[in-house]
Amino acid sequence: MSAEPAPSRLVVRSPANGEVVGEVPISTSDEVRAAVARARAAQGAWAARPIRERMGVLLKVRELLLGDLDKIVALSARENGKPRHEGLLHEGFAPLELLTYFGTEAERILEPQPIPLRLLKHRASYIHYVPRGVVAIIAPWNFPHHLAFGGAAMALVAGNAVVIKPSEFTPLITQHVRELYVKAGVPPECIEVVYGHGDTGATLIDSGVDMVEFTGSVATGKKVAAMCGERLIPCVLELGGKAPALVLDDADQERALHATLWGGFANAGQVCASIERLLVHQKVYDSFVPRLVERVKALRMGDASASAEVDIGPLVNQRQLEIVERLVDDAVRKGATVACGGKRVDGPGYFFEPTVLLDVTTEMDIVNRETFGPVVPVMKMPGEAEMVAEANRSHLGLLAYVFTRDGERGRRVAEQIRCGTVMVNDVIASAAMAETPWGGLKQSGLGHTHSDDGLRHMCEARHVNYDLLPWLKKELWWYPYNEKDVGMLRRMMNLLYGRGLNRFR
Ligand code: NAD
Repeated sequence: MSAEPAPSRLVVRSPANGEVVGEVPISTSDEVRAAVARARAAQGAWAARPIRERMGVLLKVRELLLGDLDKIVALSARENGKPRHEGLLHEGFAPLELLTYFGTEAERILEPQPIPLRLLKHRASYIHYVPRGVVAIIAPWNFPHHLAFGGAAMALVAGNAVVIKPSEFTPLITQHVRELYVKAGVPPECIEVVYGHGDTGATLIDSGVDMVEFTGSVATGKKVAAMCGERLIPCVLELGGKAPALVLDDADQERALHATLWGGFANAGQVCASIERLLVHQKVYDSFVPRLVERVKALRMGDASASAEVDIGPLVNQRQLEIVERLVDDAVRKGATVACGGKRVDGPGYFFEPTVLLDVTTEMDIVNRETFGPVVPVMKMPGEAEMVAEANRSHLGLLAYVFTRDGERGRRVAEQIRCGTVMVNDVIASAAMAETPWGGLKQSGLGHTHSDDGLRHMCEARHVNYDLLPWLKKELWWYPYNEKDVGMLRRMMNLLYGRGLNRFR
């Protein structure tokens, strides 16, 4: 019996109603390698353009993106099930901010950096930034436009070419990303897109790229890191999260309610920065939690491609639905109480009711594994120290949130939490603050994107050290060696690092 031939196309169906939205051909290995080769051949000329010209292209892309927002919002509702409001915010506003920041600041950020030398004052040093070459951007399905768009903006403005591998669940919107960049003046070979499943991503990493920017699950991130390790190429890994929200006893409850509602349920909870553990101080638990449950019950679920009056869309696919269902069932079996929701919705689409779980304990998978669904498990906490300890218990460390009226207390608690970012009295929004770093600690990733450092990381940081006294023929420590110089070196070290001079520094 011969094996089924592998499908040659990705057919995208709406997660809300199952209708076919479109399809793209799966790239063969040869096509992936050819795309990388084209990108490599074209990159040098792109990098040779003045940085101001590349920044101008980003600003042109911004203008085109603004004009195309309605199209993107409609497509993300159909391909991804995103409510239109979120399509605008996540897939429009966040990329517009990135384009604006790097379109206006890249020249400053990538200027050579002098390094003042401490000791050898007859020499000088500086770092200059050279694009790495071809950057692979491997993206997930939850922010398909934003992540491909932002990664491309940073890589391109730094002078790299990019090859994007979108998720197999959301390939259509990435075509649009490429279209805009090319229309704005990026050579088509400098922004290639290849389509397929995980094996296409692996082939891309194996095709001689110079850097990988990966966003996705922890499990895949480890495989990507191993492949990059074998090839000794840098990678930035943006992986999963299990964000705790700490509602302290002095929190502004109204703000915390709005924030936890949005932070827990936006994008149907399919955000790496979603609130996945709600830790409520016992003093405010009885007033806070019933009000949260009432508001969750009022969220309107539906097909966002049919109406803008939708707060929450479907999960992306059957697998995601099953993961959420399994985690909720496990929690209930171990004693959690379902305050609202708790089950999938009959009918077409992968809808799961917005859910709040109470009486949650640390034995339950729902507080230990990434859920990526519209479920907020609530834990009643005796005090601040216990809340911090619970926040830090997770193997993930992407985002965390602290709610308090006391600004100083908020910052003090925030500083004790081991996460890439902690927001005080806000949720998720730092993803759209292009000037701030976005990245996770522990198993949530390696390195970070956005921010000045993130842009510099798209480049090789090359150090040049040069002489200020060109007439000097010889350094003290060069050949030939002899007794006299050994003695002098020894005395010099005593002077520099011994009690003598060090008394004064
Ligand atoms: P995933 O790991 O399944 O897939 C991500 C991408 O990697 C897809 O394009 C996939 O085809 C590709 N891929 C799969 N196997 C590969 C391999 N062996 N080599 C190379 N590429 C491979 O993740 P997903 O389900 O698409 O996305 C959800 C996950 O992404 C969640 O864990 C979420 O927290 C995370 N995420 C993180 C951030 C962040 O900024 N930290 C942002 C969005 C999503």
